Amino acid sequence: MTESFPETEFIWMDGKMVKWQDAQIHFLTHGLHYGSAVFEGIRCYNTPKDPAIFRLEEHTKRLFESCKIFGMKVPFTKKELVDATIKTVKVNKVKECYIRPLAFYSYGVMGLNVSKAKVQVGIACWPWGTYLGKEGLERGVRAKVSSFARHHPNAMMTKAKICGSYVNSVLSKMEAVKAGFEESIMLDTYGFVSECAAENLFIVKDGKLITPSLTNALDGITRRSVIELARNELKLEVLEQHMTRDELYTADEAFLTGTAAELTPVREIDDREVGLGKRGPITEKLQELFFNAARGKNKKYEKWLTLVK
Ligand code: PMP
Repeated sequence: MTESFPETEFIWMDGKMVKWQDAQIHFLTHGLHYGSAVFEGIRCYNTPKDPAIFRLEEHTKRLFESCKIFGMKVPFTKKELVDATIKTVKVNKVKECYIRPLAFYSYGVMGLNVSKAKVQVGIACWPWGTYLGKEGLERGVRAKVSSFARHHPNAMMTKAKICGSYVNSVLSKMEAVKAGFEESIMLDTYGFVSECAAENLFIVKDGKLITPSLTNALDGITRRSVIELARNELKLEVLEQHMTRDELYTADEAFLTGTAAELTPVREIDDREVGLGKRGPITEKLQELFFNAARGKNKKYEKWLTLVK
């Protein structure tokens, strides 16, 4: 697991580049106490031309949508944050990295009425290997259905990456890790499969690609990319529908998608082998298509890349 990370030199904070070690906030920062913050996770890949940020516009749009859902006013425009993200990667001179924008209610207000609280924004980046490990990309990971339910949409809105809501994911992830699995699969409060702690989930069954509908899952940008690649390049039928736990057990293949985990096969769910208990052929083809697109090796998908020159 690649969960520690190397430091880079600069972090963008509220319009200025500050040294990594100087990017400090006060103990009484509102977001730290109540999870009152929103974030994004973005990746930059090296391409034959320059490093390129994968689907930067879409990630920035989702950041603003998260803020809208939460009712938080960002003191920057979308264009300013797009430019700031490019600049952060550029000044740190990294070719491949993970990028973390965060908007948070800052110091100055305590209690739950945030109407007068100031919003601060930061963007950091650092080289970060694939979240569930390189071996996981090839062999697949073992996943466990969580005893923790994904949020009911009237308890916490899952289309937004609101920091506080990720405590639900941490509980679920830690339960799975302590039980000896790499990732958790979360059911919704109706018992249908929703998503993983930090990834969307797909299965392959009888040649069709199936993924849970987005009722209480994040509208993953990797998910969208994989659906487009599967339909356009593999001519697969892709279904977004309710999915039950037993459908997971009888799937021919399974994989999860996310910016951090990229496209990772699932070889076992709840101690049952998925298909042949290893990466399936459709999963492998989709991985190849995804990484080629992200690394600028497929002209057709250059539309997804923002070059960092
Ligand atoms: N679901 C959750 C809960 C996540 O945190 C993530 C990671 N952002 C995803 C799905 C995958 O989304 P994306 O492909 O946009 O990274």
